[in-house]
Amino acid sequence: MTRILVVAPNWIGDALLAQPLLARLGERLPGVSIDAFAPAWTAPVMRRMPEIDAVIDSPFGHGGLQLRERWRMGRELRARGYDQAYVLPNSFKSALLPFFADIRLRVGYVGESRYGLINVAHRLNKKKVPLMAERYAQLAGIPGEKLSRPLPGTRLRVDEANLLISLARLGIDRRRPVVALCPGAEFGPSKRWPARHFAALARKMAARGRAVWLIGSPKDAEIAAEIASLSNGAAINLCGKTDLATAIDLLSAAQLVVSNDSGLMHVAAALARPLVALYGSSSAEHTPPLASGPVAPRLVKLEGLPCSPCFQRECPLGHFKCMNDLDPQRVLAEIDAIAATP
Ligand code: SF4
Repeated sequence: MTRILVVAPNWIGDALLAQPLLARLGERLPGVSIDAFAPAWTAPVMRRMPEIDAVIDSPFGHGGLQLRERWRMGRELRARGYDQAYVLPNSFKSALLPFFADIRLRVGYVGESRYGLINVAHRLNKKKVPLMAERYAQLAGIPGEKLSRPLPGTRLRVDEANLLISLARLGIDRRRPVVALCPGAEFGPSKRWPARHFAALARKMAARGRAVWLIGSPKDAEIAAEIASLSNGAAINLCGKTDLATAIDLLSAAQLVVSNDSGLMHVAAALARPLVALYGSSSAEHTPPLASGPVAPRLVKLEGLPCSPCFQRECPLGHFKCMNDLDPQRVLAEIDAIAATP
């Protein structure tokens, strides 16, 4: 049996966009065993992927090279006897671990001059493989090989027992259909739809008999509190009250998800939830959610804005038109279009 170690991406969304690569590896190497080496903030997502056998928690945070610690970790991993490693981040330091672990085939993009560390080196052709998911999936083939399309979708396991326990703990019920709103975006405020717009949408949804849950991390608790307050009680703020694994389970219970371009947007797509995805400073061209359900995600963006996409964390022009002018009515129209889908 071939044993593979995947050095996972550092963002939740990217981790999900790497899943088609894992599926391709499974197709090419029947019976393969795949472990992931992942930071704490993406490990819960990797643990829910059916293709992954085990997740090894990375002790390394952002920043320093930590050469000695990486060498020690690599020597520990050597005992696991991996045959191949796939290094998904492009950094030099991320390629050190499989090298120190003496893994024979170390696959990845050349990235930050990683000659030697990566010995099955792919060169990125951005025109031929424009999507992030395609770039990861390309690594399953030999360098230069044409990528086969379409890619497999993303999918996550749901822990039903944890869902029921969490609903009881949080004191919420599922008698009404649930609309989940994901108001955060780790990248920065330029990706966040304003609180007043989310609140207006929450009020409309509540008027239609929906329960509205605000789902996100502790970092999103503040904007979610503002939304809950502006929604006049229509929205329940669950941000920061769950870990990521529970957020996944709660999203699985939603009949509709409205999300900024964020990690939870990709989670919702992987759970096959009907999804409206809101884009401001970013673009869907490079990292769209991978549809896994019968209803294609609706991607919403203000058209005709010359400054967009700017890919900045904060609006460099100060007016933040890309999100301020994205009216809740427009989002409601997308929700209605989903509802009208057979
Ligand atoms: S510059 Fe334009 S695209 Fe960028 S955040 Fe501001 S309004 Fe949005």
